[in-house]
Amino acid sequence: MFIDTENILKLAIRTTEKPVSLPHFKKFILKSPYIRQVAFIGKAIFDLPDFVELIAFCSQQNLSLIFGEVGPTSIENIEALVKYGCVMAINIHEGDPNIQKIFDFQSKYCLPVPEVNLIVKSDVKRTPQDSLSDTSYAFYNLADDTREIACLNMLEEPLVDYDGSLLGCWQNPDKKHPINLFDLGMEKALNTKHYKSILKMLKTGKIDTSCPCARCPIFVSLLWANKTIDVRERVMDK
Ligand code: SF4
Repeated sequence: MFIDTENILKLAIRTTEKPVSLPHFKKFILKSPYIRQVAFIGKAIFDLPDFVELIAFCSQQNLSLIFGEVGPTSIENIEALVKYGCVMAINIHEGDPNIQKIFDFQSKYCLPVPEVNLIVKSDVKRTPQDSLSDTSYAFYNLADDTREIACLNMLEEPLVDYDGSLLGCWQNPDKKHPINLFDLGMEKALNTKHYKSILKMLKTGKIDTSCPCARCPIFVSLLWANKTIDVRERVMDK
């Protein structure tokens, strides 16, 4: 099974802990010509000293960007979110003074992007039932709707950590990850034995303890429901 990365156009980068290293990220993008969209998840990306250079570089490479959360940041960084026209959407907390600054820059540059989505603080009181985690007994219904199941992210929009560690999907429970996407590039990383063994485990339902899925409640739920997922067929051949 060969994973043809020409069809994988999106990448998500988790920057909840730290920002990416710009040279490392640039090197990876330059050898991954098929990527068209990068989503940065987590506000630590705004701690990058070269944030404006990051946006300018992505604009030169014709990449569309999404920011999952805007953190406290400089006016130069807020201006860059608008000025280069490559940031398609941002999520920002309701009441953040940067919202008005973004609208002001949109007027200045006559640009309709980025789309500004508000993160609204919820006043809804949580019940113990609401706070059941994915690791609680509620696991049994996690694979109810396999059209939206997190495993599809493995090829739809692979997730890496800020340092390039390849997580694959949002539910990966492991702390150590043996593949570095930024070092290997998309094609080599997704065609490693380890990554393909994860896809194989999902397809066959046979447990391989070297795979993160062996420790994931979603896989337990698939087993419980007697389901398997051929991620490659679902994502690449649709
Ligand atoms: S079963 Fe594996 S691929 Fe699916 S969500 Fe869990 S860790 Fe990710």
